[in-house]
Amino acid sequence: MEIRIVPVTPGKKKPKPTDESKLGFGKILTDHMFTMPYHSDKGWYDPAVRPYESLPLDPAAMCLHYGQLIFEGMKAYRGKGGEINLFRPTENIKRMNESAKRLCMPTLDPEIFLEAVKKLVLLEKDWIPRSSGASLYIRPTMIATEAALGVHPANAYLFYIIVGPVGAYYPEGFSPTKIYVVEEYVRSAPGGIGYCKAAGNYAASLMASAIAVEKGYTQVLWLDAVTRKFVEEVGTSNIFFVIDDELITPPLAGTILPGVTRDSVLQIARSWGLKVSERPLSMDEIITACSKGIMKEAFASGTAAIVSPIGQICYRDREYPINRGKTGALTEKLYQEILEIQYGEKDDPFGWRMKIG
Ligand SMILES: *Cc1c(COP(=O)(O)O)cnc(C)c1O
Repeated sequence: MEIRIVPVTPGKKKPKPTDESKLGFGKILTDHMFTMPYHSDKGWYDPAVRPYESLPLDPAAMCLHYGQLIFEGMKAYRGKGGEINLFRPTENIKRMNESAKRLCMPTLDPEIFLEAVKKLVLLEKDWIPRSSGASLYIRPTMIATEAALGVHPANAYLFYIIVGPVGAYYPEGFSPTKIYVVEEYVRSAPGGIGYCKAAGNYAASLMASAIAVEKGYTQVLWLDAVTRKFVEEVGTSNIFFVIDDELITPPLAGTILPGVTRDSVLQIARSWGLKVSERPLSMDEIITACSKGIMKEAFASGTAAIVSPIGQICYRDREYPINRGKTGALTEKLYQEILEIQYGEKDDPFGWRMKIG
């Protein structure tokens, strides 16, 4: 399938941001988007990169009622020499197809998906920020478009990709977050869709996040739905702890989003010869480690920030500082390592960087 390219009329191009330090996240989107519709009678058809515009959507479109809506999040990075890199894009493509299967949505040909990302990013390459840490965020999305009320898998879908420049996550250096352990609400349960980037997961998480913010915390630490004893994720990121000399993250058992950054952290830490465990980790163990003084570091991982240090945990109205509220040495080292691979500032032993321009 050939991807059609319909450029925006030059006079209609949006003004580009002039101050890269004020980009923030997700507020600015570029001049073009990729779209590809699907119908069960003919499969995917008419892939096109075309001017960014509103979508024509019937008010009965099934994504608006029954939530068949999945997405991905990845980035394009501009290196010092001007080259443009993606970071492990085939992992995002695989994960999007896993989400699609779970929500009875059609899967995508990985080659067309990657080609669409490349074509769109290269057409918009003047939008990719130049400053270190800033990047072009890429948001592939799939929605059910069939207009019909009635709960069943839709027969029509739209896959689209939008992109926009985003700022450095830490323009003023790391600032460790305070997180709040929520027991009353869960984001995901065994047998559910916690491992998918499905819109409903985020809607379900908003109330607990709002409670945490109201109490003065940055994020929620989610516990498992069954026992409410074991940690799962933090906000919309994966979580890691360093207890003694062991780097620990909860195992992927269907309730946790399999983060690309999580996997990268694990592979790098193993290559450094660290003791690395994917195993259940309870709040009891965390609190005991804090009181024994062997809780060394904690951090969240995800595409947006790479890693985000955690300086304090609140559990059952008690505060547990981690590393005296400071960023840990391993957290910092992992951040630098992944950042430098993404921006082409060091060699790429794992073959994660994909140069596209
Ligand atoms: C996207 C996401 C992550 C992080 O995944 P990355 O691939 O590392 O960006 C973790 N948890 C949740 C719930 C997510 O949505």
